[in-house]
Parts: sequence; C-alpha cells; structure tokens
Amino acid sequence: QAANTWEQVDRYISEQLLPDDAVLEEVLAANRKAGLPPIEVTPNQGQLLNLWARMQRAERILEIGTLGGYSTIWLARALPVGGRLVTLELDPLHARTAQHNFALAELESKIELRVGPALEQLARMKEENAAPFDLIFIDADKPNNPGYLQWALHFSRPGTVIIGDNVIRDGEIVNGHSTDPRVQGVRQFYRMLAAEPRISATAIQTVGSKGYDGFMLGIVNG
Ligand code: SAM
Repeated sequence: QAANTWEQVDRYISEQLLPDDAVLEEVLAANRKAGLPPIEVTPNQGQLLNLWARMQRAERILEIGTLGGYSTIWLARALPVGGRLVTLELDPLHARTAQHNFALAELESKIELRVGPALEQLARMKEENAAPFDLIFIDADKPNNPGYLQWALHFSRPGTVIIGDNVIRDGEIVNGHSTDPRVQGVRQFYRMLAAEPRISATAIQTVGSKGYDGFMLGIVNG
C-alpha cells in the first residue's frame, strides 16, 4: 500500500513538474534493452541533481557510477557552455550503453566517460593533475564509498558539493550488525563524514518508485 502510494506520488510529481522528455525516455528504454538493472535515479531525483548542480553553478562535475548515463545526462544538462563532466564506470556494457545515450542526448562533447574500477581511474586522474570539481556525485559500489569519499576530498576545493546516493537502504543503515557490505560501506561513510572537519554534511530520507532510501549532501568548508 505505502509503496504503491509512493509510486503514484512520484508519477504525480514528475507529471506536474517535469516536462515530457523524449530523450530521457529513450535513454531508459535503451538501458532496459541492453539489460542494465533498473537502478537509475528516478526522474524527479534526476531533476533534483540537475537543480543542485545549477544552484552550485557547477562547471566541473565528477560522477562515480555511470550505469547507462541517466543521472549523468541530468547533471550534464546543468553545465554552462564549456562545462565538463567526468563519469566513471566499471562495466564495459554499461559504459557502451552510456556512450550511446550521451550521443542521443547530444552531450558527447561535455562528457568524458572513463571505464575501469573507479578507484584506479581516480588514481590516474591524480597523476594527470585533474582540476578540482564543483560537484561530485558518488553512486557506484557502496562498499567502496569510504575510498570514494577520500578521493572526493582530494578533487575538491572549498565550496565543492559532495552528494552520495543510497545512504538509507530501507533503513538498514541503523543496523550495526548488518552483514551486507553495502550497508557497512555506507556506515563507514557516515563515520568518516562525522570525523571529517573539512565537510559539513547531512542526509535526507526519500521514498518513491525506487523504494525507501536517501541522499547524503555535503559541502567542503571554506
Ligand atoms: N548513477 C546511475 C544513475 O542514476 O543513472 C546509477 C549508477 S548504478 C547505482 C552503479 C554503477 O556503478 C553500476 O553501473 C556499476 O557497474 C558501477 N560500478 C560498480 N562498481 C564499480 C567500480 N568499482 N568502479 C566504477 N563503477 C562501478
């Protein structure tokens, strides 16, 4: 009953507030056709990411965990002329599908997709002296969230916004005895944030068509 209501309300919000978007619908269809798991952010969450990027006036965005590029497109659409988004994906099929979708969305020139384990790509970006990012979205394998947070700090400047998805996990996040490495990865992520004076952060619980979960939102202090 509750889940059904959440789904209906998500649909209502999207119908009311989000313009019809043939490209994004085609992207989701391409992801399903390629057999990617349906774990993209919802449309209204995609719009939320887009709004956060615009509020931040982000010109450089880093995304960890591309899947088929659905959230990437929402974020990249927030970039001004000359803006750039780097997105990291492990799975070659996901990456191929995403690259196809970036062409569909006519965003190829703004998006750099790097394929391989994100921790390796981040280390390579350090060697390449990649400039800091204005907004960093962490949405890959949750057991590696602690490592991603350290790298996010490395690629930050005062004022950088850091967002993490799936930080509630059906409420499992309060279960210290959980044997799920994703829950433990996210719990470690909270502990690191709590101990990290350079970041001010909070988390918001969300319900919707993708169930009960939430976002972490933080800013690197000036
Ligand atoms: N951000 C996407 C969206 O909302 O459309 C969803 C990303 S999905 C939740 C997580 C992605 O992270 C998957 O495509 C998975 O293959 C990728 N992934 C898992 N482990 C990874 C790793 N070690 N390095 C990079 N990507 C990884």
